[in-house]
Amino acid sequence: MYDVTSIREDFPVLKDVIYLDSAATTQTPVQVVAAMNDYFYRFAGNYGRGAHRLARETTNHYEESREKVASFLNADHSKIIFTKNTTEGINMVAKGMEWHAGDHIITTLIEHHSNFIPWLNLKRYGIFVDVIEPDSRGIIDPVDIEGAINDNTRLIAISHVSNVFGSIQDIESIIRIAHRNDIQVLVDGAQSAGHMTVDLSALNCDFFATSGHKGLLGPQGTGVMYIKDPDDLEPVYLGGGTVHGVGIDSFELEPFPGRFEAGTPNIPGVIGLGRSIEYIQDIGIKNIEKHENELTEYAISRLSEIPMVEIYGPDNRAGVIPFSISGMNSHDVAMIMDETKRICVRSGYHCAMPAIEFLKLDGAVRASFGLYNTVKEVDIFADAVGQITSLVS
Ligand code: PMP
Repeated sequence: MYDVTSIREDFPVLKDVIYLDSAATTQTPVQVVAAMNDYFYRFAGNYGRGAHRLARETTNHYEESREKVASFLNADHSKIIFTKNTTEGINMVAKGMEWHAGDHIITTLIEHHSNFIPWLNLKRYGIFVDVIEPDSRGIIDPVDIEGAINDNTRLIAISHVSNVFGSIQDIESIIRIAHRNDIQVLVDGAQSAGHMTVDLSALNCDFFATSGHKGLLGPQGTGVMYIKDPDDLEPVYLGGGTVHGVGIDSFELEPFPGRFEAGTPNIPGVIGLGRSIEYIQDIGIKNIEKHENELTEYAISRLSEIPMVEIYGPDNRAGVIPFSISGMNSHDVAMIMDETKRICVRSGYHCAMPAIEFLKLDGAVRASFGLYNTVKEVDIFADAVGQITSLVS
């Protein structure tokens, strides 16, 4: 039985607020904070450097986190790189692939800026970028992606789950189409990992980037990047940890994953992330997904009863609900919710201006759910939305 009451005890901050902004960042369970404290109090040292006991213990814990993440995402642990966030992982691909003028990239209109600007930026090197439009619910048709492929297409960059619409893209089909055409695929998994099963071996994408601080319940400043083949990317940063041999005029890169982790990493963060993965596995990703889906469906049913509220996105979606109240600015709605009911929702462009403009809006309110939210919270939230609409009717 899914015991949300006991789960909530692990997130003390939830005593004071109704937190419906997990798509921006999730709350962190006490067990994760304890694991990071344990590092600082008991065995803090540097990773991968040094023979003494603290360095060894730190390195073991860090590598255990890598194993945990890899097994959770069903990937080979040597292909899992720790980054600081999704944004860094995506930029590793934008800056690390060997591009040639004339190369072609396909992405979509509803990407988060982190999976959009790095591609637009390549245009100044003569690279072409095609931006595929979704349907009105935020779903990308794989046929449209296929139609945009040409002889120069090198990469398709698409989010698994949209942070604006909550739509879940058919990335399996997109990856199949891409590989049939010898094209690589980068999946932005910021909104999928930790909210649904992600099986990287089955997906077979070339790159998968996600953040530790969202569905994975880890600390900010941690991210995970899966790179199928190390030869596909040049490391962006070089330095300590990336080489195993250095002469005065040459060096030899570490194989995988060391070559992509330059300098001292976020060790306490990565150790916390390892603990948060364990935490998710104890509850069960399928149970979390089911709980979040039920809350989402219920929230949509409650919101759809309120006149003047427009909900965006498809029926079948992850736990992200964008909506607007006619005649009201999204920031005002979010402020009123916070001031009157201590409800935290996102407002504005959600770092995805083209997507919000596609909806012909200058901002949307977004409620997003985590494993710790309850039906009662959804009721308070929906009642609050109803009361706000009465201000403008
Ligand atoms: N992609 C998507 C779909 C996101 O939702 C986010 C965060 N809102 C990001 C990328 C960027 O994540 P981060 O800020 O952790 O790099």
